[in-house]
Amino acid sequence: MAKKNQFETDVIHAGYKPSDHLGSLVPPIFQTSSYTFPSAEEGERRFAGESNGHIYSRLGNPTVTALEERMAVLEEGGAALAFASGMGAVSATLFHLTNTGDHILCSDGIYGCTFGLLQLMKKKYDIDHDLIVMDSEETVRAAIRDNTKVIYIETPINPTMKLVDLEMIVSIAKERGIRVVVDNTFCSPYLQRPLSLGCDYVVHSATKYIGGHGDVVAGIVVGADKEEIAEMGVTMRKDIGGIMSPLDAWLLLRGLKTLAVRLDRHCENAEKIADKLKAHPKVGRMLYPGDPDFPQYELAKRQMKLPGGMISFEVKGSKEDAQAILNRVKLIRLAVSLGDTETLIQHPATMTHSVVPEGEREKMGISDTLIRMSVGLEAWEDIWEDLKQALDGI
Ligand SMILES: *Cc1c(COP(=O)(O)O)cnc(C)c1O
Repeated sequence: MAKKNQFETDVIHAGYKPSDHLGSLVPPIFQTSSYTFPSAEEGERRFAGESNGHIYSRLGNPTVTALEERMAVLEEGGAALAFASGMGAVSATLFHLTNTGDHILCSDGIYGCTFGLLQLMKKKYDIDHDLIVMDSEETVRAAIRDNTKVIYIETPINPTMKLVDLEMIVSIAKERGIRVVVDNTFCSPYLQRPLSLGCDYVVHSATKYIGGHGDVVAGIVVGADKEEIAEMGVTMRKDIGGIMSPLDAWLLLRGLKTLAVRLDRHCENAEKIADKLKAHPKVGRMLYPGDPDFPQYELAKRQMKLPGGMISFEVKGSKEDAQAILNRVKLIRLAVSLGDTETLIQHPATMTHSVVPEGEREKMGISDTLIRMSVGLEAWEDIWEDLKQALDGI
């Protein structure tokens, strides 16, 4: 077998051979719906699955395929499928793995629309779920039911940055034949590779760090098992149809090339900003896995290559003080989403988590003074200067 390249090389080269595409250095954008068949017989073979030539872009498109193959390599999986959004990838994966009457066990914090999807699955298809704090083997074991088919995890959990020990989850799930799905959006494969720890599926909002430039909404699922992904491609993609466009795939292939260097800088900047925040008199609790006082600091070091570019912190003051900081920043952009070149700031209680009932929010640790930041790629001194003047003003 050929020597496996390093991650920093694979983000640039994996899944694409210029010689397959007239020598084009960069993957071309195959902006076409259909593909012509050289003969009626070849058309018959393609439809029969005896030849893997292209037919129609909902079934496969070379630009999208290049992205899928690259992502499969980066996540150390068997194969990948691209979708029109992160939610497209999440919903396809959960529908693929469950039937009416099944149960999904989730980490106690999950993306708001994933939560919405679970409500829909319950109402329409009687697929039930529980959200639990996955902080020990006992609590996880106790929450597993006979009909539990999937354990669905985010780590770090948005916006509290709480981690889930993936090796611990995998060891329990394997005993019971339960599939483990990890939303790896916050880390990207550069920081954390759940499939290498025995998880079964990784889903991404590629909108975030994978694209990295805030200019595309897209999703990807990578599976450990190539056959299962092929099956999912037929049902959840060909027949349900939420495909990624070739232009979006091209933008993501472009974004991926700099994933490692971007993440290095995101993480470096976040560490600098976290140090400064921690020492600021207006800042209370800080939630950042790279902080030695973070309760799961050791787990973060074991499970993640670097602590990531996301920081949440509480302001000493009121909800209005938190909002005043958001109104005062000038360079930092007041917006949700994450993983962009720009530093983004938002207020979870009134924005991304406003649909969560107040009592639930408090239980999850999302107070009215909590602010979430996606640290960008600007000079960290400029980010801090902006944040500091906003904090000093309250
Ligand atoms: C943004 C996000 C999603 C949803 O992805 P879209 O691309 O917006 O559909 C899912 N999970 C996490 C953790 C996210 O941050």
